Amino acid sequence: MDEEPERAKRWEGGYERTWEILKEDESGSLKATVENILFKAKRKRVFEPHGQVRLGMMRHLYVVVDTSRTMEDQDLKPNRLTSTLKLLEYFVEEYFDQNPISQMGIITTKNKRAEKLTDLAGNPKKHIADLKKAKDTTCVGEPSLYNSLSLAMQTLRHMPGHASREVLVIFSSLTTCDPVNIYDLIKSLKALKIRVSVIGLSAEVRVCTVLTRETGGTYHVILDESHFKELLQYHVKPHPASSSSECSLIRMGFPQHTIASTCDQDSKPSFSMAHLDSSGSGPSLTLGGYYCPQCRAKYTELPVECKVCGLTLVSAPHLARSFHHLFPLDPFTETPLQDYQGEKFCQGCQGELKDQNVYMCTSCQNVFCVECDLFIHESLHCCPSCIHSQPNPPGI
Ligand SMILES: [Zn+2]
Ligand SMILES: [Zn+2]
Ligand SMILES: [Zn+2]
Repeated sequence: MDEEPERAKRWEGGYERTWEILKEDESGSLKATVENILFKAKRKRVFEPHGQVRLGMMRHLYVVVDTSRTMEDQDLKPNRLTSTLKLLEYFVEEYFDQNPISQMGIITTKNKRAEKLTDLAGNPKKHIADLKKAKDTTCVGEPSLYNSLSLAMQTLRHMPGHASREVLVIFSSLTTCDPVNIYDLIKSLKALKIRVSVIGLSAEVRVCTVLTRETGGTYHVILDESHFKELLQYHVKPHPASSSSECSLIRMGFPQHTIASTCDQDSKPSFSMAHLDSSGSGPSLTLGGYYCPQCRAKYTELPVECKVCGLTLVSAPHLARSFHHLFPLDPFTETPLQDYQGEKFCQGCQGELKDQNVYMCTSCQNVFCVECDLFIHESLHCCPSCIHSQPNPPGI
């Protein structure tokens, strides 16, 4: 395991003369080149389409958060812990927005121990509430990579074969305190097809390099807060499923929201099944809700797994939102502004096209500005002019 070549380090590469990219214009200003660099950075984020591949749509992810002493460092403002928890709140929302039929759990590690902050569950509100509470944690001792991973493994190993098993570690410390040899654990993780990815907050650590390489995950070290956010964003989208993962048909229920009116004499407030184990957040007795089509158990929120009959309950719009991952919108073609002959207005925001490039939809030939192009590909996932010209496009 140890002899494999590592990927080349940055300092081993050629000598980069970064200052030579900057060129002054006639007036001696650097504004034009700086703008150009920023513009290219914006475009870089538009994803590369991966064509028709199988994706692991049903994800089971454990996020391991290091809460050891090093999380008190103030290189991220106000400190690493607060900044990480804030970004994670946003990550949880995005994750459930893009993967509505998936589950997530959070594990924290400090003082050579690992603890579950939240169990593997599909309700973003509970995770976010617990992340908010965790801000007051005192960061002490050393983290234990071994204990955190084996805690995640205990639950993930029982997940069905068609669901993905993933762990994302936010690792701040440069050391880990493990009770036994962690390389044996890496072998078991690999055998159980648990994919471990690491986001480092300090510097690259050898054990994480081996861990991610062996389990097929990714390893990145953050440069600053915005890079940290970008790296988390990368884990929001489902990853291609491994060819060995099973295929399976899943029974799902699509309950309609029923509203019982207060003037109706027969309607009585009832308990939601979701309140059986919660610590009393929100009203527990409610009128109306979502009723499981199989056993009539009541829930106030979707998506949820029915506690009585085990049926996965989702709303149809949730499922439709996962759809675009399988059929992503084709990237728009990039044309320099001076070569473009038509009207110089963006079809999206109706603003004048001023950037150096315009972006053309390959099916309706309408043009968009760079901001709209990003918005269409990252949030909307369909071309507004195509929808406008043919209200029922084929395939949807
Ligand atoms: Zn049920
Ligand atoms: Zn626009
Ligand atoms: Zn179009």
